[in-house]
Formats: sequence, C-alpha cells, structure tokens
Amino acid sequence: MAKYIFVTGGVTSSLGKGIIAASLAKLLQSRGIRVTIQKFDPYINVDPGTLNPYEHGECYVTEDGAETDLDLGHYERFLNIPTSQANNVTTGRIYQTVIEKERAGAFLGKTVQVIPHITDEIKRRITLVAQEDMYDIVITEIGGTVGDIESLPYLEALRQLRREVGKDNCVVIHLTLIPYLKAAKELKTKPTQHSVKELLQAGIQPDILVCRTEHHLPKELREKLALFCNVDEKSVIEAIDAETIYDVPLLMLKEKLDKTVLKKLYIKNNNEPDLHHWKEFLGKLKNPTREINIGLVGKYNELQDAYKSIYEAFIHAGAVNECKVNVIPIHSEILENGDVGTKLKDLQGVLVAPGFGERGINGKLEAIRYIREHKVPFFGICLGMQCAVVEFCKNVLGIKNANSTEVDPKTKEPVIDLMPEQKKITLKGGTMRLGSYACKISKNTLSHKAYGKSDISERHRHRYEFNNAYLERIESAGLMATGKNPDSGLVEIVELKDHPFFVGVQYHPELKSTVENPHPLFVAFIKAALVNSELFFSAK
Ligand code: GLN
Repeated sequence: MAKYIFVTGGVTSSLGKGIIAASLAKLLQSRGIRVTIQKFDPYINVDPGTLNPYEHGECYVTEDGAETDLDLGHYERFLNIPTSQANNVTTGRIYQTVIEKERAGAFLGKTVQVIPHITDEIKRRITLVAQEDMYDIVITEIGGTVGDIESLPYLEALRQLRREVGKDNCVVIHLTLIPYLKAAKELKTKPTQHSVKELLQAGIQPDILVCRTEHHLPKELREKLALFCNVDEKSVIEAIDAETIYDVPLLMLKEKLDKTVLKKLYIKNNNEPDLHHWKEFLGKLKNPTREINIGLVGKYNELQDAYKSIYEAFIHAGAVNECKVNVIPIHSEILENGDVGTKLKDLQGVLVAPGFGERGINGKLEAIRYIREHKVPFFGICLGMQCAVVEFCKNVLGIKNANSTEVDPKTKEPVIDLMPEQKKITLKGGTMRLGSYACKISKNTLSHKAYGKSDISERHRHRYEFNNAYLERIESAGLMATGKNPDSGLVEIVELKDHPFFVGVQYHPELKSTVENPHPLFVAFIKAALVNSELFFSAK
C-alpha cells in the first residue's frame, strides 16, 4: 500500500507549497520511488475552470480534460508524468459529490454532516489515488493556510487518516515562514510557533518543518524551533529563497528533506538520487551564451501567473538553446493606440497568448499584422491562432467583416466559429473542448520538422474553432492548415508560407513542456527568434 505525505502551509499564503511538494517528489522519484502529487483547494468552485485568471492564475488542463490548479503544472514539469482529474479536488467538488449522494438517498435517512460525511469524502479522494497501485508514495498538498475556516475539514480528515493508517505510513510537513526583521537584524520564530499551535489544535503534530527564509537559519534558531514546535532538529529544514524554482530540488537535497521523509516512513532506499538530467538543465539555464527578447501579447499581463506555463515553457526551450529568453509582457490594449512598430521593435519574436472575450482583440490583430508583414517570428496559441486567422482573412483576403463569433456573434463572415455541438451548451463549467486530442501534421512543414513526426496529441481548452468553410480560400492565399484532427477534420495548426516562422496552434503546447521534454514548438520558435536576432544585430 502507498504511504502518505501531507503538506500544509502556515503563517501566509504564497510560500510555495506546490514547489516544495514537487521538489520533494522529484527527489523521491530520482531515487526510484514511484510518487504522485495531489492538491486539495479549499474554495467552493467545483474547479478553477470558471475563475478569471486574475483570481487564481492560469487554469491548467490535464490529459483527461480536467481544469485544475496551476500547481499541477509544476508537478508535471518537475516529474515529467501526467496528472489527472484525481490530482486536484476542491471543496466544491467534495460537497457536490456528497450532496448528489444525499439526493440519491445513499445516506439512508441520516443527517449529513461535515464529520463524518465531508471528511469521509476527502479521505476517499486521498486513498483513491493511493489504491491505484501505481505509486509508493502519495503527496497531498492542502491548499490555503492553517487557521483558515475553509481548511478545517481537510485537517480533520488528515488527522483521522493518520490515525487509521498509522504514523509510520504518514508524514506531515508544515511549510512556514521565518520572517527577517531588518531593524532588529533578526529572524523570528514566533509566527511558526503560532501556526504549529493552530495545527495542534486540529489534532496534528507536524513531523517536519520546512522554513521559508531570506537568510540562512543559524543552529540556535533550528534548535529553538525544534524545541518549541516539538520536532527533532534534523526535521527543521531550511528553504532559502532561490534564484529559480528549478533550484529548489537541489536545495532540498542539501537539507536532506528526502532522507528525513524516508526515515520517518520506514522506507529503506539506498539509491543515490539520479539528478544528472536535472543538473544538466540547470547548467544550461544558468550559463546562457545568448539572449533574446520575446514579446508576450496578452491581456492578463499584470499577473505573471496567468501565463505560468508559457513562461516556464520559454525557460525550458531557452535552456535547450543555451539562450536567456527575456519575456516582455505587452498589453494588447496598448497596441490599439497605434504605433505598433515602435512598440514591437526590440523583439526578436512575438507570442500572442490564449484568452477569452473581446477585450484587447484589436491590439492582437494589429500586432499580428505587423509581425506578418515584417517577418518577425510569430507563435499564436489558441486565441492567438484564432486572431492570426481573422487578421489574415481581413488584411490578405480582404474579407472586411471577418471575425470570430466570440467577438461578434452576428458577424456575416465567421471565420472562427462555434462547433454545432457547442451551440446548444449554456452551462459554463467544464463544457469546452477540453483535454488531449490527436492531430496529424502534414509533411514538409515547420511543425513537422519541430516535432519530428506526423502523429501528435495535444491538450485543448476552447469553444471556438477554425471554420472549415473558409479553408480553401485561406490556403490558396498562403495560410496553410498543416495540422488537423484526424477524426473531425478540425484545423489544429496553421502556418504561413514565405515567412521565417509563423505558426498558430489551436491547442495549448505550453501545458506539455517539462524540464525533461521541452516542447518542440517552443524550442523551434526560440531557434527562429535566434536566427532573427542575428539578422537584427547584424543590421544594426
Ligand atoms: N476564447 C477562445 C475559445 O474559447 C480561445 C480560448 C483560449 O485561448 N484558451 O475558443
């Protein structure tokens, strides 16, 4: 049976529980242990699919089409194994399941309560992953901060589960903050003492403290934390601020987090962690030989988390090319005031981002027109690809009213349109084209060269599609549909002829880029931008 590791958070949010969980998982994996990570989010939405990116950052989509928290992206990028619906559960989903059972009469006339019914459902979801017999260890991250009203049922479920499976099979890691008071030049332990007290009130004694800090923890402070929080000294782990998230596994290795966990779980493992691939990646990431600027045209640019996987995919692709990629966020709305050329002039490539709704669309169209005409490498993702099609129809084919029905539902020229089956749908949650779909790529195309094969599968999250009624006209003018869904014929990739790199994809390649497998289209895009940059600098 699998053993359990729980990660809770104290003092403040945003301490990086996801990164700590993913780093620990990476270390365990590098020792040959089969591990997966699951996240519980204490909010009432059934999933983050209906959340505005400003609320909760990017919505990450799994192979099986679940709309999930962006931490799942970190899990996949670190572990290089896919996650699924079971890896992210919200309070909304827990309650939905319990209420559906109640309506079906499954509780035989009993009063339905937080304890035992909600906590039972939480435990069921945790053990479900463990029962698959695919993993030796399941790491469960509990979202939110200890002390929040919403987290209580999760802590209670954790307390019960630990009692049921026994302490030898379950470890609780508490991630906390050790603030530094500049005026006093001191690191402070009190907030951690308080948050451990909160946990104790819920009946949970943490086994390990992982301490986020800006400065190294002196020995006396570790001793003090150990004494007051009732853990052994070796279980006080320093998590010092790192240059990049990819440094964290090695920092945790140095602090022996993996060894400490294994000892507490009575797992014998004398394998040396095999991190050679990871270290090779870090070496390239830290020693770039070149540098380029890529524009990211989107409308959620105030919040980097809204495009998390895109930023990370650039880091992976940059490292392969030994190139530092400076991603320059460009708000699509500012491109609507003209002078696009000046605003895009120092960029060696431009990515037009995914998105929803009409705000900022004209800015995206302006950017694409400039890029197309000036032969700047272009990469359009989802809405970015749809905009490329609209722009091409308007400005090359001269279809003045060409539009997406998302922007103008009454347009006479719906070059991007809803699929017939989408037209009937009124509910918003979980109703888009979601998850993994096959795509066949034509030979002798940029994408075929990048992927090195014809049959691929990529993840989707959208309602609107390329309207095949316009395909012939569009292709005859040079924008080619180079990738199609083999079953439905839906266009998944477009490429412009006679342009160094102009690729639009209906799917989300960024979701499948990992440290071990950087996404081929991102790698090819950076290569094209590097060629452009050589031209750019030699012309200067
Ligand atoms: N809004 C567009 C659609 O639903 C694109 C979605 C996206 O970029 N993820 O089709």
